[in-house]
Amino acid sequence: MRFEIVTIFPEFFSSIFEHGILRRALAEGLVEVGVHDLRNFTHDRHRTVDDRPFGGGEGMVLKPGPLAEALASLGIQPNSARHPHQGSTFQAAENPRSEPALYQGTTSVLPQTPQEEAGALAPAGSRSTVILLSAQGRPFTQALARELATLDRVILLCGRYEGVDERINQLYCDMELSIGDYVLSGGELAAAVVVDAAVRLIPGVLGNEASSEFESFGIADAEIAANDDGVPRSQHGAGGLLDYPHYTRPAEFGGLRAPDVLLNGDHLQIRRWRREQQLRKTLLNRPDLLENAALSQEDRRLLESIRRGELD
Ligand code: SAH
Repeated sequence: MRFEIVTIFPEFFSSIFEHGILRRALAEGLVEVGVHDLRNFTHDRHRTVDDRPFGGGEGMVLKPGPLAEALASLGIQPNSARHPHQGSTFQAAENPRSEPALYQGTTSVLPQTPQEEAGALAPAGSRSTVILLSAQGRPFTQALARELATLDRVILLCGRYEGVDERINQLYCDMELSIGDYVLSGGELAAAVVVDAAVRLIPGVLGNEASSEFESFGIADAEIAANDDGVPRSQHGAGGLLDYPHYTRPAEFGGLRAPDVLLNGDHLQIRRWRREQQLRKTLLNRPDLLENAALSQEDRRLLESIRRGELD
């Protein structure tokens, strides 16, 4: 899969891709990232990307022209088949009029071969999904990260100032995406969050294929394949709950002992304890998640006991 990021601060991303899982995924070719400087698609001496808002008011707005040219260089044309405001089901839009991307004046995190620079990674008809990072967007979730991880090519547009001329959203974007209910000064941090969350879900990226199923917001127990490697897994799929707390050596730290149940090797007990902890943490920090979580009868009994303070 390939991400294309359009930004006025391409250098912002250089360190993001140099560490940990993202770095390994790039090195192994499991993901590719192109970072494109929006100012390379301006034509004036000052390389102007912004202008004053129609109707007055604070701040500046990213002009549509340079963004449209940046998208054209990536093979993306305005497309009447794109319906950014319809339906809640997210679908990658087909881009039948895709021209070879020029990668003109762009930087890439990966060293580009001459073929790549000529746009070999954006063949006509390849599926591209254009996303506008925006505080007004639909909330980014683990479920959406999972969907993005299955796509061929995702183009992320980073806004700045007061935002992006709305016609870019209307003409080109498959969706507006927000990473949370707060306002950032630019879309770059949001784009980095989206890339990080999606890349670790691409098959082969995490060392242990199954591990993303067992963390916060993981998939429901019923969807988790049976695993009999001795680790008690089948019962502690997160099922939409938050993760349980983790401990490692030393067993005693800061006057606190790691829970005995984790040290005694009884997998059944460990499984029960972890599930109870998941329920407890979710009830405390994110009670809203319990409404859609896959809960067994036993879970409901445990929740009741936690609520009544019987398991303290
Ligand atoms: N006037 C806008 C905020 C603009 S902030 C508003 O009130 O909604 C400038 C840019 O930062 C936005 O264009 C967007 O690309 C990015 N941004 C800000 N908050 C964001 C969020 N929560 N999620 C994703 N992108 C965000």
